[in-house]
Amino acid sequence: MTGRLSIGARWTLRFTGALLVTVSIFAGILYAQVSARTQHDARVFLALRVKDLATAVDRDGIDSEATRNALIRSVRVGEADFKLGLQLFDENRALLVRGGSLERHPQLLPRTVPEVEPSAVLAEQTALFSEHDVGENYPYLLMTLPVEGGVAQGFLYQRQFVRAARDLRNQFLYTAPMMLLIVAGMGYLLARGSLQPIKDITATAQRISGTHMEETIPTSGSRDELDELAGTLNAMMDRVREGFARTRRFSANAAHELRTPLNRMRGRLEVTLEKERTPDEYREALGDLMHDVEHLSEGVHGLMRLAQSEAGLSDEQRVDVDLSGLLMEVTSFFEPLADEKRITLDVADLPPITVPGDPSWLHQVFANLVHNAIKYTPEGGTVSVEAAVHAGDATVVVRDTGIGIAPEEAERIFEPFHRVGAKPDAPGVGLGLPLARELVRAHGGALNLMSGSDGSDFVVRLPTRSA
Ligand code: ADP
Repeated sequence: MTGRLSIGARWTLRFTGALLVTVSIFAGILYAQVSARTQHDARVFLALRVKDLATAVDRDGIDSEATRNALIRSVRVGEADFKLGLQLFDENRALLVRGGSLERHPQLLPRTVPEVEPSAVLAEQTALFSEHDVGENYPYLLMTLPVEGGVAQGFLYQRQFVRAARDLRNQFLYTAPMMLLIVAGMGYLLARGSLQPIKDITATAQRISGTHMEETIPTSGSRDELDELAGTLNAMMDRVREGFARTRRFSANAAHELRTPLNRMRGRLEVTLEKERTPDEYREALGDLMHDVEHLSEGVHGLMRLAQSEAGLSDEQRVDVDLSGLLMEVTSFFEPLADEKRITLDVADLPPITVPGDPSWLHQVFANLVHNAIKYTPEGGTVSVEAAVHAGDATVVVRDTGIGIAPEEAERIFEPFHRVGAKPDAPGVGLGLPLARELVRAHGGALNLMSGSDGSDFVVRLPTRSA
């Protein structure tokens, strides 16, 4: 993480940025609305005052006492809340009467008068109004209206109106940084909290090593995405652990299996070389050694085939195999052995079956099964081979009436080097079934034991179409 921002920090920045943009847009719209509203209010307020004055002029004449009083009264009423001024000029633009704040800013008054009917005043004719600035950034609004016999003017100092909008803007400017700071802080805490499971996963993964595989990632039970990820990783670790344990067992067994014949050979050699021997004795010793070497080489060969088959079946290897023909070939190969043991080798009428696969691998599978069936069936027994096709799968059953396999051994016999009732001198090394199962798996099929109490049924399922 060094040199780069953490996900938490990045999300906090993005989140704060997004909030800043949103709040700014919102505040801008609000400011524009308040501004427009106050502007409108100021114009309506001034227009009403000037309209009152125009009405008094209409009623009492422009240069009467009553009109003058009306002007002073109107200014007094308005000035309670706002700075306001009103004045009247005669036809020659000579000042007749003036009241309110206008007295302090007489020099600011324009002398041009627009041609507008008095009745149009409240329609907010833009021509009636002009805006001026008296400093301090507070503009005033001037309204000039022609009246009977002269001109009426109204003046409104807009301080109160402008202040409302300005206060709003200032409040936003002062509070925004603080608000952003709070949001950034809270966002960071929230992001950190929700990223904690990822940190736990990383820490656990760092602790896992070849000698330290028991670690599991804690799950919260919330069933959210991170919890699901933790569960998936734990399940993956279970599979890795299982694979590791299998590999360890396999290498330990392989080493043990290879060491036994080697030790035996070494002992035999030591004993033979202890003293002078006759040629017959040497021949016998060499014969024993030859037997052990064959056993050893069978073991090494089996291991190599197993490693090869675990890599899977390549596309080039896959051809259409005549399964029935292959089964006939295998059984006729073992016929002499079966005859020797007086075992009946029974092959049912096989329907024509074709499966995609490697003929030599499939040959090995069925040779192992038929050989085992003969090996583990006492004299006078029967070994039979049947085949059929069900739902796109070929099923081959190799059945014998032999010694059978205890249910608790049903899965273990497929583990490398596992031999039931381990008699190390018995022919075979305990790799036949694991190899056969791997070879069938490489074809996308399955090999299982379905044995009863009398004898064993090995069932091979092979797909008849490539996956
Ligand atoms: P191997 O035959 O070389 O010992 P396998 O892997 O072929 O090795 O078989 C493993 C073990 O399974 C054998 O040692 C034997 O105990 C048992 N087994 C295999 N096939 C049969 C069978 N048809 N009947 C009884 N036991 C069998």
